[in-house]
Amino acid sequence: GYSCGIVGLPNVGKSTLFNAITQTAKAQAANYPFCTIEPNVGVVAVPDERLYTIAKLERSQKITPTFMEFVDIAGLVRGASKGEGLGNQFLAHIREVDAIAQVLRCFKDEDVVHVEGSVDPIRDAQIVELELIAKDLETVEKRLEKVEKMARIGDKKAKEELEKLLAIKDVLENMVPLIRKYRDLGQEVVDYARKNLFLLTVKPMMYVANVDEESLSSPNEHLKRLIEYARGIGVPVVVICAKLEAELIALEEEERKELLKAYGLEEPGLNKLVREGYKLLDLITFFTAGEKETRAWTVKKGTKAPQAAGKIHSDMERGFIAAEVINYEDYIKVGSLAKAKEMGLVRLEGKDYQIQDGDIVYFRFNV
Ligand code: GDP
Repeated sequence: GYSCGIVGLPNVGKSTLFNAITQTAKAQAANYPFCTIEPNVGVVAVPDERLYTIAKLERSQKITPTFMEFVDIAGLVRGASKGEGLGNQFLAHIREVDAIAQVLRCFKDEDVVHVEGSVDPIRDAQIVELELIAKDLETVEKRLEKVEKMARIGDKKAKEELEKLLAIKDVLENMVPLIRKYRDLGQEVVDYARKNLFLLTVKPMMYVANVDEESLSSPNEHLKRLIEYARGIGVPVVVICAKLEAELIALEEEERKELLKAYGLEEPGLNKLVREGYKLLDLITFFTAGEKETRAWTVKKGTKAPQAAGKIHSDMERGFIAAEVINYEDYIKVGSLAKAKEMGLVRLEGKDYQIQDGDIVYFRFNV
């Protein structure tokens, strides 16, 4: 599965949000068999109405969503890169996640102390990002020392690596997270930063603006400023009220709907968070459907049919013959797979076919 780390300064609402996530995970675990239960990990279903619609139309006995993992990463404070607070512990956790959700406090509350003395989400975002940048710089400089020596004695590979390192260092020294210079750096350098150096600022990031209930319908000044700032640097913002999320999860379905309606919301903020994480990682969903089970699966955009089959079973990838495919948009017009087949709407695709979001797929394979 894919994972998203939750970071942020102390007292911004991380635990409140993470509790809502784990409560949701627990509630869902009653329906789905669950593996990993660690205190700092919450695995939640990716909300997708299409899954339930297909299952209903196909009269499936079982419905299985696809999941996203959230990891509570505590300990990021000003000076963390130099060992303040929990020091470097958090770094190991960030290295393990695929994306980062940075919680930013946008709510005012005299009773909740702000570690920096005032509410200012842009400043907070910059504090956290500077810590990550500082850590990346340290990693790059260590590597540079070695590679420079090798390059000096004429090692050709080292010279190539040196160039990459210097390009990365240049971005970091300008206090810019690498992900924001993705295009300038190019895919090869980004891959190197990610796969060889395990840098932190190369991970996609979103801001989670934690607001008061009132700001859900009419944004306060802090939120407005943050949204404008984030737009300028290309970071997506998910607006939630962590406190409300915590209240929602404690309610029964009907009461929950009532409360959401009272705030003019169509769904819990948690759904938005999961979906944004999905988007951030360039993930799409395909489905397998039938009477026994309708199930959602996650793949990276651009994944080809055999590799998508491999998500289900390695035998299916090895023995891949073809994929029978219909997209949800077309499926919903006829309302059943049997009918779609009858009408010749199910296409047969080969090994080079790229799975599209919403594809309903049946894989043919040799055993
Ligand atoms: P963490 O240190 O980032 O994990 O922050 P917590 O989740 O422990 O929250 C710190 C304090 O802020 C707690 O007293 C929460 O009840 C409060 N808090 C969290 N979210 C909200 C919110 O949306 N509105 C208000 N008013 N208080 C909140």
